[in-house]
Amino acid sequence: MHTENSKKIFQQSKRFLVGGVNSPVRAFSSVKSQPIAIKKGKGAYLFDEDNNKYLDFSSSWGPLILGHNYPTVYKTLQKAIKRGTSFGTITKAELKLASLLVKNISFIEKVRFVNSGTEAVMTAVRLARGYTQKDIIIKFEGCYHGHSDSMLVKAGSGLVDLAKNISEATSKGIPNNVIKDTIVLPLDDEQILQEVFEKLGSSIAAVIFEACPANAGLLKQSILFIQKIQQLTKKNNVLFILDEVITGFRLSFGGFADKYKIKPDLVTYGKIIGGGLPVGAIAGEAKFLDLLAPIGPVYQAGTLSGNPLTMKAGIATLKVLLKNKVIEHLQVLSNYLNQLFIKEITPLFDKLPFAISLIHEESIFWMNIHQKNKEHPIRNIHDIDKNAPKIYARLHLLLLNKGIYLSPSIYEVFFLSYVMNTDHIEYFILSLKETLIELSNDYTIGPMME
Ligand SMILES: *Cc1c(COP(=O)(O)O)cnc(C)c1O
Repeated sequence: MHTENSKKIFQQSKRFLVGGVNSPVRAFSSVKSQPIAIKKGKGAYLFDEDNNKYLDFSSSWGPLILGHNYPTVYKTLQKAIKRGTSFGTITKAELKLASLLVKNISFIEKVRFVNSGTEAVMTAVRLARGYTQKDIIIKFEGCYHGHSDSMLVKAGSGLVDLAKNISEATSKGIPNNVIKDTIVLPLDDEQILQEVFEKLGSSIAAVIFEACPANAGLLKQSILFIQKIQQLTKKNNVLFILDEVITGFRLSFGGFADKYKIKPDLVTYGKIIGGGLPVGAIAGEAKFLDLLAPIGPVYQAGTLSGNPLTMKAGIATLKVLLKNKVIEHLQVLSNYLNQLFIKEITPLFDKLPFAISLIHEESIFWMNIHQKNKEHPIRNIHDIDKNAPKIYARLHLLLLNKGIYLSPSIYEVFFLSYVMNTDHIEYFILSLKETLIELSNDYTIGPMME
């Protein structure tokens, strides 16, 4: 495969852009290779600057549930851009997108649009603090909520110690006060959650939870754990923020909440809701949302918020989701993928020093690379095998060479899109099969597992 042009672009980018990228994971450092510079996307495919073609399972990290330039989204944008790109005032488009949410998702009465998932979460957290008049935010290790200060606090190196909150930050530049007010708990541990509520319930403003955690692999949680969060928050005047930036409109139109009958107080969206343009949204009951300015005392604003192009791309995307059987189609594909994986891929691990389990939830999937005798439900970031990143790096590059574009980190999930069909799934499985056969003939893979 020729990648000279991509290499050249990355090399030059490093001179002018920090690390050559505008978002760290794009540097491909966790798969120990170099980013591919993309020239265009069409349907299920990406095309790079060296004219290689890839089947795209990254989906721009999730927004493109319909694939690249889906015809109705493309036509909508083409028409919209003739009228201008931003007006900085109210438009029919933002009204329409908000009403699509309110009419189709039972627990939503009001919406505020912003420009990224990060902003949506940041605003939801401020809103929760404003509403409850309390400060502490609880989040979970292995969940990602964008890059605002408090959301970059991680668990300390020891066990959760309630006496002294020993959280640290994953980034420099996070004030100690922010760290102090953020408690990071392990996923899948009702007991610790219960204890924290008993001791600190009266100081907790919100619990934020990533619906179906999909930013540290795919850490599907037991529904009982999530119901416990709902129960405890309700009892203690704590807001339950459900981060549906990935899962919204993907697990069902009403996201994880609708699929599993969970009722959050505030929900954050992003990704799909902007049809491929920058977006975020906070939604929930009016009694919470109406605390935002200009009605209430919680300030939030945005020069380009509710951008007409974004709103129209979002409307066009959501309309396809409501009209066509998108999620049903993706479900069929997802099950087919799982079936083929078990039939064609699973037997190959007899000849390899590791195994892979396919984990999937609707159109999200992930490959859990683990030791052969260690298969168990993976619910916690510490369950990910320490050798998995090295093996994934090998797989990633070999698959890339076969025209399969997967996200460049073991911790990222993959997405199926509406424009895919069974041929695409078969091509993926065939490529994975060939890759694993190549690896089983490679003597270096054994030592990699030590
Ligand atoms: C992507 C993501 C975010 C952040 O959204 P940005 O638009 O990248 O700021 C927040 N939460 C979750 C669950 C995400 O996957």
